[in-house]
Amino acid sequence: MTIKDILKHYEEGSMTTRQVVDGYLEKIGNEDTDIGAFVEVFEADARLQADEIDARRERGEDLGPLAGVPIAIKDNMLVMGKVASGGSRILENYNATYNSTVVERLKSADAIIIGRTNMDEFASGSSTETSHFGITKNPIDKTRVPGGSSGGSAAAVAAGFVPVALGSDTGGSIRQPASLCGVVGFKPTYGAVSRFGLMAMASSFDQIGPMAMNVDDAAAVLRVIGGHDPQDSTSHSEDVALPELASDSVKGLKIGVPKQFFNENIDPVLASVVKEAIDKYVAAGAEIIEVDLPILESALAMYYVIMPAELSSNLNRYDALQYGRVSAGETINAQVKATRTEGFGNEIKRRVLLGTFVLSAGYVDAYYKKAVSARQELREKIEESFADVDVLMGPTTPTVAWKLGEKFDDPLTMYLADIYTVIANLAGIPALSIPCGDIEGLPVGLQLMGPAGSDAKLLDLGHWYEQL
Ligand code: GLN
Repeated sequence: MTIKDILKHYEEGSMTTRQVVDGYLEKIGNEDTDIGAFVEVFEADARLQADEIDARRERGEDLGPLAGVPIAIKDNMLVMGKVASGGSRILENYNATYNSTVVERLKSADAIIIGRTNMDEFASGSSTETSHFGITKNPIDKTRVPGGSSGGSAAAVAAGFVPVALGSDTGGSIRQPASLCGVVGFKPTYGAVSRFGLMAMASSFDQIGPMAMNVDDAAAVLRVIGGHDPQDSTSHSEDVALPELASDSVKGLKIGVPKQFFNENIDPVLASVVKEAIDKYVAAGAEIIEVDLPILESALAMYYVIMPAELSSNLNRYDALQYGRVSAGETINAQVKATRTEGFGNEIKRRVLLGTFVLSAGYVDAYYKKAVSARQELREKIEESFADVDVLMGPTTPTVAWKLGEKFDDPLTMYLADIYTVIANLAGIPALSIPCGDIEGLPVGLQLMGPAGSDAKLLDLGHWYEQL
C-alpha cells in the first residue's frame, strides 16, 4: 500500500492503524529472515503506538500528516532509547540518547517507526555486504545485492515490509539501492534536511532522504522531515517549498544529457533502457540537449579522496572513550588500538587509512586539496550547465544488481557502481532515482538532477513519468 492508500483506509474507517501495523509486522516476521532488511523490528512499540493513534482518532483529536504510516529508519539515525549501530560492531551495544531531527519530526507527524534497517558499515559500501550484522538480499532476486549503503531500507520498501523508509546518501546510498531494488529514492539538496542525529560519514556530502514506492510518497515524507533546523549549522534557513505534485506538461523542458554518461563504463542494454525513458519526455515535447562535461570523468576520483578524508576525521570519535565498544588493553593506547581493530571492519579500515594518508603532511596538497579544488570546479561547471538546461538526466547506476559476493573482494569495481551518483553529492544538488524499466526482470533507474533548491521540480518531473 502507498501512503495515500493507508490514509484512505483510516479516513474511511476500513482499517485501523493497529490492523495496518499488524499486517506489516506479520509480513516482516514471515519473510525478512530470508531477506535481512531489518536489524531490529520495534514490534511492541509499533503496536503500542498504533493503539494510541487509533484511540486518538476515535476521540476526534487532530493527528499529524503521517498518522499511522509505518516507516523504517536506516540504522545510522538516532532513535532515542534504541540501539543505533551504523552497521558496525563498534556500536553494537550503543543506545541512542536522543532522537535525530528526522525521527523527532516523523514522530510529531505521528508516523510509526517500525524498525532499524541494515546498512553497510558507517554507510561505506554499495552492496550492504559490509554490515557487521550480515548481508541483505535483493527482494527482486535473492541471489543478488540490494545495492548500498541503504540496502536494508531499499529492500524493506521493495519487499512491501513498509511503504516508506529513510536512507542517507553520501555518494549515492539512497539512489543506487533504490535503483537496484526498483523503488524511488531521493537525495535532497544539501542542507534541505537536517543531519542532526545522523552518524557523520563525510559531512560535506551527507544528506538524509526518502525511499518509497512512488514519488508522491517520497514527497510526503520529505515535507515532514525537511526544513531548517538550528541544530545543524549546514541546514538551510529557507525551507524547500514542496507543493502538491502537479505533473505539469513537460513541453519545452530542456533536458541535458551529459555525453560522459554513456561511455564504456555503462552496460549498453541498460543505456538503451535509460535512453528510451528519456525519449518519453521528448515525445511529450521536451528537448534533449547534449552537454559536454569532461570534468565528470574525474568525479569518482574526487569523491574517493575527499570522502575518506572526512570519514577518517569523523570516525576518530570511536575511540573507546566517547561511544560504544571498549576493548581490553593495558594502556589507553592499547585500548584504543584494540577497540578500533576489533570494532571496525575491513572496508572502514581501508577508508580510515586512505583518508589519513591523503590528509597527512606532504600529501595533503597533492591529494586532498587538489580534490577539493577540483570539486569546486565541478560545482561551477554543473551550475553553468544549468544556464542552458533545466535538468540533467541519465542512468542512476552503470549496471543492474549484481550477484551477492561478486564485487566484494574488488573495491575498485565496487566503487565504480557510484560513478553517476557521486556527482550530485559533490555538487550539493538534488537528485532523484525512479524505476524506468528492467533487464530480464532486474530494475533500472533513471536519474534526474537539478540545480540546488530544485527539489520540487525534480519530484514533479519524476511524478510526470510515473503517471505514464
Ligand atoms: N557507495 C558509496 C560509498 O561507498 C556511497 C555511500 C553513501 O552514499 N553512504 O562511499
